[in-house]
Amino acid sequence: MATLKDNINTIKGIGAKRSQAFAKLGVVTLYDLLCFFPRRYEDRSVTVPIAETVNGVPVCISAVAADDPRLSRIRRGMELVKFRVFDASGAADITYFNQSWMKNNIQRGEEYIFYGKMEVKGRHRSMTNPVFEKAGTQGDSTGRIMPIYRLCRGLTQKTVLQSVQSGLQSCAGQLPEPVPEEIRERLTLQDVQTAYENIHFPKGFPELYQARKRLVFEELFLLACAMQYRKADRLEKHGPRFEKQEVERFYAALPFSPTGAQRRAVGEALADLASGKAMNRLLQGDVGSGKTLCAAALAWVCAQNGFMTAFMAPTEILADQHCKTLQKLLAPFGIRVEKLTGSMTAREKHQIRSALENREIDLLVGTHALLSENMAYPGLGLVITDEQHRFGVQQRAALEGKSENAHVLVMSATPIPRTLALIIYGDLDVSVLNELPPGRQVVDTFSVDSRYRERLNRFILKQAENGRQVFVVCPAIEDNEEETGISLKSAESYTEELRSSLPVLQIACVHGRMKQKEKDAVMEAFTRGETDVLVSTTVIEVGVDVPNATLMIVENAERFGLAQLHQLRGRVGRGSEKSYCVLVSDAENEEAKARLAVLCKTNDGFQIAEEDLRLRGPGDFFGARQHGLPEMHVADLGADTLTLKTAKQEADTLFEADPHLTQPSHAALRLKLEDMLRTGAITLN
Ligand code: ADP
Ligand code: MG
Repeated sequence: MATLKDNINTIKGIGAKRSQAFAKLGVVTLYDLLCFFPRRYEDRSVTVPIAETVNGVPVCISAVAADDPRLSRIRRGMELVKFRVFDASGAADITYFNQSWMKNNIQRGEEYIFYGKMEVKGRHRSMTNPVFEKAGTQGDSTGRIMPIYRLCRGLTQKTVLQSVQSGLQSCAGQLPEPVPEEIRERLTLQDVQTAYENIHFPKGFPELYQARKRLVFEELFLLACAMQYRKADRLEKHGPRFEKQEVERFYAALPFSPTGAQRRAVGEALADLASGKAMNRLLQGDVGSGKTLCAAALAWVCAQNGFMTAFMAPTEILADQHCKTLQKLLAPFGIRVEKLTGSMTAREKHQIRSALENREIDLLVGTHALLSENMAYPGLGLVITDEQHRFGVQQRAALEGKSENAHVLVMSATPIPRTLALIIYGDLDVSVLNELPPGRQVVDTFSVDSRYRERLNRFILKQAENGRQVFVVCPAIEDNEEETGISLKSAESYTEELRSSLPVLQIACVHGRMKQKEKDAVMEAFTRGETDVLVSTTVIEVGVDVPNATLMIVENAERFGLAQLHQLRGRVGRGSEKSYCVLVSDAENEEAKARLAVLCKTNDGFQIAEEDLRLRGPGDFFGARQHGLPEMHVADLGADTLTLKTAKQEADTLFEADPHLTQPSHAALRLKLEDMLRTGAITLN
């Protein structure tokens, strides 16, 4: 008997060629094959009277051949087999292209099942290249719900289907059952064998629904369990004990008093830092909630205890700004803050390295340059990552790996819907900044089309005349007409346009293709208030802090995700002046309009995130750069949120009762989790 670990070539009919093709789809072992679930299904289980078939809709008909098939060649290399069929309700013409053998497969007077798209023109009905089976022998490709698999060159639906079928048979009873029986019974979930049989070859739609329900649960349950399991591991990791914690001294020196939320978050982290265990905490807070201050407070405590802090930011602009902010906050205490970025000269980098060696730096702020192999951090006690979603899991792990036991704080402004946060951050402790610093106002947001251009320009002028500053964000650098025909406002050409319509203003442009030095110079001039308008691509998206900016204009706003637009909007409304955000879009489609309307309606990042997730699904929500969101096999993180909650609850209860999964009824679960963590089958933060 075959086992799940066996290579698929143990199946009859799978040789070297097909093995290779399967491997392209990630299918190597029999277990992979059984886990290769159909992409979709075709309902070929019921037949429809010919007269009731609808144009363009795929159906099964059961019909008798009215005549002998005729073979004709319409031109070289093009052969037709044609015949007419009928049932009690009506008739249809069937045509096969380039399948001359069909002539001998069809006998006049015999009944067949045909599955295909019916074309209806007036009273005339026809099908082209339908799947067919002789009536009474159906069951292979008609007369059932057909699984449709993802294919690649060298594989057909039939090959995959038959391989799965024989795989399921030869491994019957071997599929591991990670979901404990008690849970399955209580939640009336199918057992694993039944579920796998039904997800591939559903007897009917209720069975398919049940199979999917069970597999979605399993997937989410395993993920929740893996987080718990990992967390248990992390809880055992030691960290330096920071006993000096007089953070009030730090607060007292600030130009403002910290918000209640900031105090609470810092307090939660301080408890971790004093515990002797390594901290693993996520600090989540909407844009402008003041995460940097929390980071500063912790770096301060870290320095008081004789350790250094490494602080990683996703862009040079941000690293630069953080460095300045932190210097201002910490230098008065004699804490040395330095910067390390990729654009620095080898000499400058070398200086930083030797300063680190001599333990002369207390806080090093940088980009991923911090991760370079030749960087070492003696006395590293705390690792902070800002805007963590911009980094890959590996990058963060690399920074954390610079020290065995450093405490870890990750900060994120992406307001992740609660349900998803449970999954992504299930193994981290979470602090939330749910309060904005006082005086922050709601940013009035408008969605307009380009007919408002002139009024918008007057509005820009008015802001500048009042001494305020304006951000303009464009999606692309150079002008280009996309396949959609919508022209994208480019930062450069927009800048030119604006300069000619508002000649009295100082207008600068910054984009990703400029040299670092140039970018810095432009940013600095804007921060100092020397320029009125800063036109940019999304380089300013994260973190940049210019309290005097009161207007944010986003061109081609439909191009951006809601979460991203919300981040951009967060660049204004940071000072005491009334602030505005104008989303410019000529997009006609309803979904785009609906998305922009969400932003005009609310300033609440969490509500926006939920809406975005609902409107676009989790993939888009996080964008291509989002790492750390596990790839789901069956579950849909946007739609299966109820199951997600149940799965999380069940996992919590189970781990409370049996934290190390030592009970016999949890043995299969433990094996599965260890396997997942070992093979990296799931990404964890
Ligand atoms: P984010 O959470 O988006 O990173 P920042 O840390 O950049 O937010 O803070 C945004 C702005 O709020 C900064 O200008 C900062 O100086 C200011 N700020 C932070 N905390 C407070 C506070 N407690 N009172 C007043 N202003 C604050
Ligand atoms: Mg920030």
